Amino acid sequence: MTVKTDLKNLSLPALEQFLQGQGKERFRATQVFKWIYQHDAHSFEEMTNISKDLRAELTATAFISNLETEAMEVGSDGTRKYLFSLSDGASVESVLIPDEGRNTLCISSQVGCAMGCRFCLTGTFKLTRNLTTSEIINQIMAVRRDVEIRNIVMMGMGEPLHNLDNVIPAINIMIDGNGLQFSNRRVTVSTCGVVPEMERLGRELPNVNLAVSLNATTDELRDRIMPINSAYPLKELLRACREFPLPGRRKVTFEYVMLGGLNDSLEDAKRLLRLISDIPSKVNLIPFNEFEGCEFRAPSQASIDAFHKFLIDRHVTVITRDSRGSDISAACGQLKGRLDLDACKSEK
Ligand code: SAH
Ligand code: SF4
Repeated sequence: MTVKTDLKNLSLPALEQFLQGQGKERFRATQVFKWIYQHDAHSFEEMTNISKDLRAELTATAFISNLETEAMEVGSDGTRKYLFSLSDGASVESVLIPDEGRNTLCISSQVGCAMGCRFCLTGTFKLTRNLTTSEIINQIMAVRRDVEIRNIVMMGMGEPLHNLDNVIPAINIMIDGNGLQFSNRRVTVSTCGVVPEMERLGRELPNVNLAVSLNATTDELRDRIMPINSAYPLKELLRACREFPLPGRRKVTFEYVMLGGLNDSLEDAKRLLRLISDIPSKVNLIPFNEFEGCEFRAPSQASIDAFHKFLIDRHVTVITRDSRGSDISAACGQLKGRLDLDACKSEK
């Protein structure tokens, strides 16, 4: 029995190759691609501008996967958390952060995460497996049936740079003019700092936005809270940020989780300023979201305000993220791929 190919695992050039292997013209690939991403076709039968013979051939060799929303919760601020069950029984979450006409979808790249950051609930679950390209893309396609999406951030479960083989084709599908048609400036990849893979991302997809979870201003603290730092310490990480080929005027986003009493002092703010001063960048302050059993505390409002003000006064672009969706555990680092079932509204 031949194993059928899931066409949603293929970028347009890969689909062209797949069809050329079956003796088909190149433009057929564009037609099929448009059916899948622009018309959300679920079967080849729907592809009415393609001959019956080709449709039958495709049905024999390929399929178009889909993800149905298993459950969806809406937080008091309108944040929506979607749960998807995957074909092997694993599940992942995506979070829609509403903003009039500029909705942002935060998608997952792995089931769990191997990086083990101490402050991150996803990290405590270890890595189950990488998501396939189609599983990454299908999160967007499922949510898009509900609401319009303007921005995509890969800040859900998992470390996208630990799964670049699947993440790169997924992003190519997102930004392809025949695919999901997102502008590359509306797609952001976030990493904890896997330096060699940052270099690969820069080579293969130089036009997407880069976000780096910095979270500490000394190697001593970063080693303690982010194990990746012992492989790629701050100096190497910042060099990789400096060398990342961002298009003109674009900035690296530094995410900084504020942990009460640990990295939220003005001394930290001063060191942060020094570390990033020669990198075109903006800072995203994320007050730590507590979860059961965690060893860290949320920062006080006074320390958040003082940290924020210190940077703003020195002309750093800063956004302090509010804990959106925290009442439904949809805030940063709270995704565990499992809804609290009694609290969720099932939407099939
Ligand atoms: N693995 C990637 C992508 C996930 S993004 C990365 O780490 O960048 C998840 C973001 O949420 C990261 O910036 C992380 O530092 C932050 N985060 C994780 N746990 C958190 C928590 N409990 N409270 C606030 N932010 C958290
Ligand atoms: Fe993984 Fe990112 Fe969580 Fe670290 S913060 S454990 S890299 S998902």
